[in-house]
Amino acid sequence: MTQKKSATKKNARLRGAALEAHAREIERRLRVLYPDAHCELDYRTPFELLAATILSAQCTDKRVNLVTPELFRRWPDAAAMSRANPAELEEVVKSTGFFRGKAKSLRGMAQAIVAKHGGEVPPAMNDLVALPGVGRKTANVLLGNAMGRNEGIVVDTHVARLAARLGLTAETDAVKIEQALMPLFERDGWAMLSHLLIWHGRRVCDARTPRCTECTLADVCPSATS
Ligand code: SF4
Repeated sequence: MTQKKSATKKNARLRGAALEAHAREIERRLRVLYPDAHCELDYRTPFELLAATILSAQCTDKRVNLVTPELFRRWPDAAAMSRANPAELEEVVKSTGFFRGKAKSLRGMAQAIVAKHGGEVPPAMNDLVALPGVGRKTANVLLGNAMGRNEGIVVDTHVARLAARLGLTAETDAVKIEQALMPLFERDGWAMLSHLLIWHGRRVCDARTPRCTECTLADVCPSATS
């Protein structure tokens, strides 16, 4: 039986209070395992986190962290980046992949922040998702980490994979996964929950070769393999 089928089958049995208890136990164990879990992108301001998160699409945080010091040295805020020379911006972000699109999103995002928000990153979900290159996932990263606001749960590839494997939801669409997770966890812990799942996905529950035998969740995970 594949992992996906196994998770789906078990998930069909967990509903209501049992599913909530399952979710709480997962969070409790991961908090013990990763007490220092945090966003692994380097940033000093909301603008820097927004730009770094745009660059992190299809790219590792480590690679983004190598690029952003030079990026923010040359264009430290929305006003500066809104006036960036497109070719120079592309050159600086080139190693993060998809660099033409990312450079365009960075400039567009910065220009919109200058034109509509006085040069400051807006603190509201609706305003953020209206910015070029910013979707709900990026907005959740920004709000949860740089602004201390738990508006939603970041659902990236790790969170989506672990939510399925752990039997938290059978949904496959990121927005529906987020909607399924939100009622299972305390709101003031949503940002940390994303970090915990991402850290576990990077360190133990690998996409191709999950290390179930060394996993702290193995006895409660419907996808565990021995
Ligand atoms: S690594 Fe852990 S969370 Fe991932 S499938 Fe195995 S037991 Fe489940």
